[in-house]
Amino acid sequence: MDDCLFCGIVAGRVPSEIVHESERTVAFRDIAPAAPVHVLVVPRQHVDNASSVGPEHAEDLAAMVVAAREIAEAEGIAGEERGYRLVFNVGRDSANSVPHLHLHVIGGRQMSWPPG
Ligand code: AMP
Repeated sequence: MDDCLFCGIVAGRVPSEIVHESERTVAFRDIAPAAPVHVLVVPRQHVDNASSVGPEHAEDLAAMVVAAREIAEAEGIAGEERGYRLVFNVGRDSANSVPHLHLHVIGGRQMSWPPG
């Protein structure tokens, strides 16, 4: 999609700090990080958000979670003693702002639950 920000990053039209790529996904650092590690994993194929996901997206979703684990390992936040949070925001109440499916990989500091 020409006017989609994250499609622009996937295509290389929009600059970003890419940290991981796979056949199905691209991951880059969040421009306004909420923690020392804050990476967004997106499918190369445009999907609006998690509520638009169907069975046809199963391989993309699996690839996104695998990418998140590989990123956590590379960033030194994997393993039981550290850990990380994976987040999909959907809709206004969640503060979802970019309409291209993305998985937040957040870590590198102690977090509380429930989130604010
Ligand atoms: P969400 O609220 O789930 O839609 O998250 C969108 C995220 O994208 C936010 O955390 C933003 O800081 C981040 N973001 C927006 N524009 C960019 C960009 N050009 N490069 C990297 N991250 C971005």
